[in-house]
Amino acid sequence: MDRSKPKFPPTVKGATIATHEFGKGVDRFGHVPSESFGSPRPLTLSIIPCSNIDCRSGGYDVEGEFRIMVREKLTEKEFSRFCPGYEDSPKGRRISNRCLNIFHYRLTVIYKPETSTTQ
Ligand SMILES: [Zn+2]
Repeated sequence: MDRSKPKFPPTVKGATIATHEFGKGVDRFGHVPSESFGSPRPLTLSIIPCSNIDCRSGGYDVEGEFRIMVREKLTEKEFSRFCPGYEDSPKGRRISNRCLNIFHYRLTVIYKPETSTTQ
């Protein structure tokens, strides 16, 4: 059984994602948070990790949005999502805090040209 990566639907040639994120850890790779989307990169159908190093169970599941776009035949759409994770409470305090990172992203879907299927 092939359990590697989720595959794009057969009508989709490819997809890209452009992102920018607000919150903790966003600049830890040296790039400054900006108001604009970064350059698009190929979309992989996996959870995009949250940049907050204290974040647990976080990350952004773009696959669901992607599949809705394909179903509605949209080529481009922008989203804003809060990270669903939480921060570990320091020193065993019982209250943990929600992760407050916000992830903005723009999905672009490239469809295969309509072909006359020979059936
Ligand atoms: Zn997070």
